[in-house]
Amino acid sequence: MPKARPRRFPPPRGPRPRRRSDRGAPPPPPPQAAPVVALAPEGAAPVVLPRQIRVEDLAKAFDVSVVDVIRALVNMGLMATKNETIDYDTAVLVATELGFEVVPEQVAAEETGPEIAEEPAPAAQKILWTDDDPARLRERAPVVTVLGHVDHGKTSLLDAVRQTNITARESGGITQHIGAYQIEHKGRKVTWIDTPGHQAFTAMRARGASITDIAVLVVAADDGVQPQTIEAISHAKAAEVPIVVALNKIDKSDADPERVKGQLAEQGVTIEEYGGDVPLVPVSARTKQGLEDLLDVIVLVADVRDLKADPERAAIGNVVEAHLESGRGPVATILVRTGTLERGDQVVVGTTYGRVRAMVDDRGKTINRAEPSRPVEILGLPRVPEAGDVLRVAPDEKTAKAAAEEEQRRRAEGAAGERPATLDEMFAQAKEGKTKELKIVLKADVQGSLEAIRGSLAKLPQDEVGLNVIHSGVGDVTESDVTLAAASNAVIVGFNNKLDAPAKRVADSTGVEVRSYKVIYELLDDVQKALLGMLEPEMVEQVIGHAEVRQTFTAGKTTIAGCMVVDGVIRRAAQARLIRGGVPVFDGRLGSLKRFKDDAREVNAGLECGIVLDGTNDVAVGDIIEAYVIQAKPRG
Ligand code: GDP
Repeated sequence: MPKARPRRFPPPRGPRPRRRSDRGAPPPPPPQAAPVVALAPEGAAPVVLPRQIRVEDLAKAFDVSVVDVIRALVNMGLMATKNETIDYDTAVLVATELGFEVVPEQVAAEETGPEIAEEPAPAAQKILWTDDDPARLRERAPVVTVLGHVDHGKTSLLDAVRQTNITARESGGITQHIGAYQIEHKGRKVTWIDTPGHQAFTAMRARGASITDIAVLVVAADDGVQPQTIEAISHAKAAEVPIVVALNKIDKSDADPERVKGQLAEQGVTIEEYGGDVPLVPVSARTKQGLEDLLDVIVLVADVRDLKADPERAAIGNVVEAHLESGRGPVATILVRTGTLERGDQVVVGTTYGRVRAMVDDRGKTINRAEPSRPVEILGLPRVPEAGDVLRVAPDEKTAKAAAEEEQRRRAEGAAGERPATLDEMFAQAKEGKTKELKIVLKADVQGSLEAIRGSLAKLPQDEVGLNVIHSGVGDVTESDVTLAAASNAVIVGFNNKLDAPAKRVADSTGVEVRSYKVIYELLDDVQKALLGMLEPEMVEQVIGHAEVRQTFTAGKTTIAGCMVVDGVIRRAAQARLIRGGVPVFDGRLGSLKRFKDDAREVNAGLECGIVLDGTNDVAVGDIIEAYVIQAKPRG
């Protein structure tokens, strides 16, 4: 445990250290010792937990992987390795996150031990980050991402907003492109992500960085809804981010707003004027017409969302972009999500850690503090982190190092563990009450088949698991489809199309399941089976042993192979393959398996046996009989 505690890392017990703005605020409630009734799986008995428990043992107690527990801890801002001990209160939070109900050991045993809350601080508490304190929550600026079809004016809009609201007001301020910028509109701040497009938006989301609060969907009034507009809508909806439509190029003579409004309605985007809840603002990035209205609306939507953060706590942020710069070293643009990032803070960013040597804002100004929703470039990391990586302030270097190493391990393990679910797994999860919905991205060769499939899917019974087609479109399965599926834990269903090369790469690296069909009936059947939980498990072959033919005998018309089991086991009930000179020459079943004169159920390696193959007498000395079984591939 560190001797001197940094100011923003309170001891696990007792009141939090206060900062200036805390004065007068009521002290936070003491940690809860009482059992927390969590969203437990139906019928599951509460898990009895001791006052302190190792992370690994907690995973065992819940019968979940240790990665799940560590991930839950990370979500709570607590970096702990599997060998570290956490206290009951922390375990309760983990339980809540994972959906378990727990009771403390002494309650379960009806003991009258000392109050849990008075226990001395266990070891792992030293790295507990503070939570957002409800009493200290303050409004934060909304984070906006611009989406839409190519050439509809996304970049122009970002530039126009930046020019009118920054350069004009900041005397001498030179706008820096750092990946995000913040403007002020009628005294309210709005943060804009500088990389437009749903690919970047969803790629960040797939990495766990859902930083966007509002999606501005740019639709050119002269061109209307186009394929990428539809994709953008699906991506924003899948992320559950509210949409504001910026109907751009309104200055053009062939602008046709009414047509666009109708097209949007067809895509499930019903604007307020049509009785829906999506605001639409006519704008022109060229003439700047309507930009102020757009900002008014964005601020309004932000108000409805009640976006808040705790500026007093240790900062948590996300990397928006990062690169190596000569003379400056690794530079990372961080969007602070909550807390305040300060120069000199010890931080862990993804798998790297270091001290924030300097901070530069989107106007090139050196700053010492960055509040929530403020994008800022940080210098001082030894390595370039990845976009989407989480930044956390750590109490000391040792903790930062441990957290970075843990993240490295987690990623090494995570390659398998974090793989999005397959159709089979989704149903398994649904059965356990973890998933109530099967999400699919549907791509078909032509509009006609797409409509037919969509129509039939809608008619499938959805009693146990609901079906949610988060995106559908015509054409091959693209990288954007795969990233969307990865970010949304969806399965891709393709009909009469293929996976393009970049999409295949992303599918391989993310483990997204892509199912291709040539027959609509089979597609519907599989989805229905998944929904009903009858999806046949994938059958795989497992070789269980080999026997070498040492001599052959003839009994009537039957050839008996006198064999030596050279490895594994030969089972009477197994399938068998006859291999000659490395080439399989027969595939079938065992007709009989004998040890000396007796029938045997199985014969192990090192023992002799007599084998008759069912269906062939063509067996020769030197042949290999390979025994195998076909079994359901284990889930997960
Ligand atoms: P992006 O691909 O969506 O980022 O689109 P751009 O911002 O690059 O804009 C595409 C083209 O449309 C450029 O030639 C812009 O000058 C033009 N453009 C963008 N906004 C407007 C607008 O409001 N009015 C007109 N007339 N042209 C625009």
